[in-house]
Amino acid sequence: MSLITAENMSVRFGGDTVLRDVDFTIEPGEIVTVVGPNGSGKSTLLRALLGVRPPSAGHVRRLPGLTIGYMPQRLTLDGRMPLTVRRFLSLPVRRAPRDVAGALERVGVPGVEEQQMDALSGGQFQRVLLARALLAHPQILIMDEPTQGLDQPGTAAFYRLIEEVRQETGCAILMVSHDLHVVMSASDRVICLNGHVCCQGTPTVVSNAPEYRALFGLGTGGAFALYQHAHDHAHDNCDHDHGEDHAGQGHAG
Ligand code: ADP
Ligand code: MG
Repeated sequence: MSLITAENMSVRFGGDTVLRDVDFTIEPGEIVTVVGPNGSGKSTLLRALLGVRPPSAGHVRRLPGLTIGYMPQRLTLDGRMPLTVRRFLSLPVRRAPRDVAGALERVGVPGVEEQQMDALSGGQFQRVLLARALLAHPQILIMDEPTQGLDQPGTAAFYRLIEEVRQETGCAILMVSHDLHVVMSASDRVICLNGHVCCQGTPTVVSNAPEYRALFGLGTGGAFALYQHAHDHAHDNCDHDHGEDHAGQGHAG
């Protein structure tokens, strides 16, 4: 049985329909990646599937009792408030020290319990967020641009970690990514979004789909051209000013 299913789902903000007639499903253990220009509704799709943002039309169904680990696109901590990693991992649900230690070790940052959250590097911070999501023993991990701000080696390492986690726990993974070249190989299925589902399928099918190539302004280049495109210029016409500007986040490229 599918973990999450959406049928004919639309989402509106005021008068704007930002997602239209989306059909979506994710099965246990699948890695599904959502790609699309800025403002194409990727975060909105995740929030609708989570149940945080109710659809204006259509349905979303989650498996009864489904446990979800969620990593939001942005998490701003108040730097004036001291917060250790240990404390952060025990909010809002208290976790046993042994579980905290195990989770931190699993994501490759053992022993950082007593460090301040704001003293962590970008890569460590993302791993701590992942540890927090894993402490819930999720059947599905939902991550919104988890490698935003990481350099290329950091990004590649993070995706390897994700695949290991999937292998060990069997949890499904649904993520939004801008790292097209990397997710193309790390995903079972890619969904290309632009206010609606432009195309979807295996990474190979999507990367060759005319809709996908048109959306990202691609000619006949290979994976390297994809990567160059994705990071060399901003999609000015698609940028929105609600605090999700991806420029200057330290992407390699
Ligand atoms: P993406 O994650 O693909 O960059 P979003 O899902 O964040 O796109 O946004 C899709 C569209 O919905 C954008 O036009 C954005 O301005 C709009 N939007 C997102 N969140 C809100 C909100 N809370 N209120 C009003 N409009 C929103
Ligand atoms: Mg987003």
